[in-house]
Amino acid sequence: MPETGGIILGIDLGTTNSLGAYMTAAGPVVVRDAGGAALVPSVLAFGPDGQVTVGRQAKAHAVENPLSTIYSVKRLMGKSLKDVAEDLRVLPYAIKPGPNDTVLVDVAGSGRTPQELSAMVLEDIRRRAEAALGVKITQAVITVPAYFDDAQRQATRDAGRLAGLEVRRIVNEPTAAALAYGLDRKSDSCIAVYDLGGGTFDISILRCSEGVFQVLSTNGDTRLGGDDLDRELIDMLTGEIRARFGEELEFGPATRQALKAFAEEAKVRLSDYQQAKVQVDLGGGRVFERIITRDEFEARAAKWIDHTLEHCRRALADAGLAPGDIEEVVMVGGCTRIPLVRRRIAEFFGRNVYTAVNPDEVVALGAAVQAGILAGMKRDTLLLDVTPLSVGIETLGGGMGKLIMRNSAVPCMASETFTTCIDNQSAVDIHILQGERELAADCRSLGRFVLRGVPPMPAGMPRISVTFLIDANGILNVSARELKSGVEASVQVTPSHGLTAQQVDAMVKESYAHAMEDFEAHRVIDLRNEATRVINAIEKALGARGHVLAASDRARLDQAVADLKAAMKSEDGDAIDAAMRAANEAAQALTADQMNDVLRQTATGRKISEF
Ligand code: AMP
Repeated sequence: MPETGGIILGIDLGTTNSLGAYMTAAGPVVVRDAGGAALVPSVLAFGPDGQVTVGRQAKAHAVENPLSTIYSVKRLMGKSLKDVAEDLRVLPYAIKPGPNDTVLVDVAGSGRTPQELSAMVLEDIRRRAEAALGVKITQAVITVPAYFDDAQRQATRDAGRLAGLEVRRIVNEPTAAALAYGLDRKSDSCIAVYDLGGGTFDISILRCSEGVFQVLSTNGDTRLGGDDLDRELIDMLTGEIRARFGEELEFGPATRQALKAFAEEAKVRLSDYQQAKVQVDLGGGRVFERIITRDEFEARAAKWIDHTLEHCRRALADAGLAPGDIEEVVMVGGCTRIPLVRRRIAEFFGRNVYTAVNPDEVVALGAAVQAGILAGMKRDTLLLDVTPLSVGIETLGGGMGKLIMRNSAVPCMASETFTTCIDNQSAVDIHILQGERELAADCRSLGRFVLRGVPPMPAGMPRISVTFLIDANGILNVSARELKSGVEASVQVTPSHGLTAQQVDAMVKESYAHAMEDFEAHRVIDLRNEATRVINAIEKALGARGHVLAASDRARLDQAVADLKAAMKSEDGDAIDAAMRAANEAAQALTADQMNDVLRQTATGRKISEF
C-alpha cells in the first residue's frame, strides 16, 4: 500500500458508534464501506478461536455470545472499578480490577484493558479508511467528550498508539461539531452545542468570532445518554415480564443482551412512529409481547432530558450568558433525533435547533476539518479550547490548591512555589488533583509524584517550583525544580488511573512481537476450514463412487484423510498444509473418474452444467 499522502484521519471514537472522515479540497468526507455505511458499532466479539470481529457483525453476535461481546468500552476509559460500579449493573461482560487502579475487561479468561479494546475499534476504522483511500494511514485526530478528564484523554491517546496511529490532536467533540458546521465563518456569535450520544452528554457554549473559536464553558455527564433511555425501557419490560411469569425469574446474560437490543430498537423506532412492538421469547413456550407508545417512552425519558437541561443551565451560568444570548443550537449525537429532545431543547433556548448535518457524522467531519488544519490544508482557522476542570495539588491538611482554573484557554501554564516542613527533608510527595471541590478527598486523583534529591536545608528554606502545563490536547504535564540550589530533580508522574508510558510501550512492542504469532493463528484457522471442506468433498465422492477405486488407491486415500484429520488437531500450519496436499493427491484417481464420468455423460447429450 502506498505511504500516507499526508492524510490525517479524523476519528469520532464513540461509546456506541465510531467513524472516520478525511479532508479533501472540497471539504470533509466521511469514510464509507462498499455498502455506503459510515457508522461502525463500537462493539467487539471474541470468537472461540481467538479471532476478533468489530462493528456490525460483532453487534449481531451479541445475543448469542453475550459474555464475549464487548460494548460501551468508552465508559471504562481511564476509570477505576469504583468509578464504574453503576455500569456493572447493565454490562453483561465481566470486569475486574487492573493495575494502577484501572479496570480490566474479562475476555475468555484474560483481562484486556479498555485502551486495548478501543484500539481494536480504532484499528478497524483505520483499515476501512485505508481500503477506501488506498493509502496507508499513520496519523489521526481523535475526538473525546469535552468533559473527559486527564486520565480519560490519556487513555484515548494510548488507544490510538496501540492502533498504530500517531495521535496528532485530541479534540473536544462539540468543538469539532462547530467546525463541521463551518461556524468559524460566523462573526461574533454564541453557539450552544448539545450532544446526546449513546453514553455521554455534553453541552458546550462557544463563541465564534472571525475564524477564532473560543469554548466559553463546558458541562455534561460522562455517564448519561441513550443507554440510560434503553435501560428505562429494559426496566419497564423486566418488571412486566416478572409480574407475568413470576418474580423469581432470572435474566441470564443472553436475555439481557436481547432485551438491550429490543429496547434500543424500540427507542429508535419511536423517533419516527407513535408506537413500537417488542416481542421477547423467554424459552419454554413463554413469549412476552408488548406495544410501547411514544407517550409512555417520553414519560420515562423526560427525567433524563431534564438532567441535560440542568447541565445546560450550569454551562450558561459559567459563560455568564442567558438562554436568549445563544444564536445557534447545534444538535449532535444519535439521541438528538428523539422528537422530545428536539422539542425540549428548542423550548429551553427559545429557538429552532440546528440539525442540518447528520448528527451521527458531524463530529467526525469536524475532526477531519481539524486534521486538515494540522496538515496545512486549511489555514484560516485558529482553534482555542478551554480546560473543562480545574487542576491543582493537595495542600497541607487535605485541601485542594488550584493551579489552573477550569475554563482556562489551552495551552496554558501555571507555576507555584512550595517549601518543606521538616528539617533536611530530601523528598516531597506531591498529589495532583482535578476537580472543583475544596477537599482533596472530593476531587479526582490524577497521580502523585515524588520530587527527590532536594539538598538538605532547614524546614521552610527550599523553594520548590511546580509547573503545570496543559497542552493543546488538554493533557497535563507536570515538572518541578528546586530554585535555591538550581537542582532540577527528576520527577515521574504515575497516573492513578491508566497505563504508564512504559506499560504502553510494552504493549506496543508486545503487539509487534505477537504479530507473527497472531498471523500464524489466523493461518491455522483458515487452513483447518479449508481442510474440513476437502475432507467433506472426499467423503461425499467416496460415498458416490468409492467402488471405482482399486483397493490400494482406496487404502492410500483413507490413510491420507486420517493423516489430515490428525494434522488438523495440531497448531502446525505447515503440517496441515502438507497433509491437505497429500489428501488431494491421493484423491486424484477419484477425481479423474469423476471427470471421465462427466465427459461420458456429456457425450451422451447432457450438458456439464446439469451436474
Ligand atoms: P452516538 O453515540 O452519537 O452514536 O449515538 C448513539 C445513540 O443514539 C444510541 O443510544 C442510539 O440508540 C441512539 N439513536 C440513534 N438513532 C436514533 C433515533 N433515530 N432515535 C433515537 N435514538 C437514536
